[in-house]
Amino acid sequence: MMAMWDDAITDIRGRLSEENFETWLSPIECRKIEGDTLYLAIPNSFYAEWIGSHYLPLILDFLAQRQGGMNYAVEWIVDEKLQQAALTTSSQPVPRAVVSNQAPAKAKTPSGLSPKYAFENFVVGPSNQLAFAACMSAASKSGQHGNPLFIYGGVGLGKTHLVNAVGHRFLERQSAHRVRYLSAECFTNEFIWSLQNGKMDEFRHRYRSECDLLLMDDIQFLAGREQTQEEFFHTFNALYHLDRQIVVTSDVPPKQIPGMQERLISRFQWGLVADIQAPELDTRIAILRTKAEQENIPISNEVALFLAQTIHSNVRELEGTLLRLAVKAELLERTIDLEFAKEALRSVLPCADQATSVEDIQRAACEYFGIKLSDIKSHRRHRAVAIPRMIAMYLSRQRLGTSYPELGDRFGGKDHTTVMSAVRKIASIVDDDTIVREAVQTIERKLRL
Ligand code: ADP
Ligand code: MG
Repeated sequence: MMAMWDDAITDIRGRLSEENFETWLSPIECRKIEGDTLYLAIPNSFYAEWIGSHYLPLILDFLAQRQGGMNYAVEWIVDEKLQQAALTTSSQPVPRAVVSNQAPAKAKTPSGLSPKYAFENFVVGPSNQLAFAACMSAASKSGQHGNPLFIYGGVGLGKTHLVNAVGHRFLERQSAHRVRYLSAECFTNEFIWSLQNGKMDEFRHRYRSECDLLLMDDIQFLAGREQTQEEFFHTFNALYHLDRQIVVTSDVPPKQIPGMQERLISRFQWGLVADIQAPELDTRIAILRTKAEQENIPISNEVALFLAQTIHSNVRELEGTLLRLAVKAELLERTIDLEFAKEALRSVLPCADQATSVEDIQRAACEYFGIKLSDIKSHRRHRAVAIPRMIAMYLSRQRLGTSYPELGDRFGGKDHTTVMSAVRKIASIVDDDTIVREAVQTIERKLRL
């Protein structure tokens, strides 16, 4: 896993000037990779912001290509030892506050914005149209009503995308203006670092006077962090009184953020609070089409419909699945037709294909024990039949959540209390009885439950 990180760094080294590489990338240490999360240690929190907006997309693209389209997330770990190391080995000053004229003429001021998130590639549907409209308005008439704008919704539903889009639109109109996009976590880290290093004046300057638009993502991170909340409260007030637009996102509405000071909660409600819900089927299809077009992935309506029907909760998941599918198709030199999509999804998302039915479980149990389907539905009580039947009932209940009366019907018209006691019986012995456990596990594996 770590070799993959080294490869990514080597790849990027080839694309940057030596100076940039030494300054920004060589101080980073990849501490571990766990699941889809990279833990990157950095000398101070400015790195998170700068690397996040400048180099991280390159790194993540590289990793995604290597790992079948996997979308990695990054956890930053601020480690002061690295700061010391960077100071002693480098002749250059360790980067701290972002230098505003460091960026080439055409580039935006280092705002922390992610270039790929714009209004243009955001698909609007009933689930997000209020948030979308509110964001458009925040980007165009800063400081009027709708300040602050508070956007909330579950993970992967487009909050980060929308707030970045606000930043881009704002800069398009007034490129001289200063936009600060950062997560509340980044804000916290920077705040702590500034405090420890006697840089609070700079910190306050940066977020109070030198900021025309503040985009604060995932404010729920401040839960229980009293001191950072205090600082954010004053930041908020300063900007608000200067009529500067503030946009905040959260995974829950203001009142439900645990451990958040009342005075902040009330401020979050001064302006406009807008939610984002999980997208409806049509919106999911439209998102898939947009994404497929962007990435040049040829998918038919049929496949788009299948994916959208199978993955309903979260846009990030939807996107990730599409990308993995594309990578797989390319590797196997297959076209993405319905059959391929179904096959691929079965292995990628074990439960995605909702085809598993009570009957599938019955058949698998019969096959395992070598009995007939008619036996399992019969009223015979012989152990050779009763045990497979009880296991199939147990699995159907556990894995499919089918109701007891319905299971009674499916198993040849039995009383629901019979089913219930069978399920309980298996549940009570499955851990200790090796024969039963082996059967349950094998059937589960076979059906990818
Ligand atoms: P959140 O911040 O709410 O967890 P993100 O903004 O990170 O979610 O969105 C996850 C992914 O889904 C991003 O790649 C984003 O571009 C995409 N996405 C979410 N909603 C939409 C949408 N309505 N149209 C296009 N892409 C979307
Ligand atoms: Mg987000």
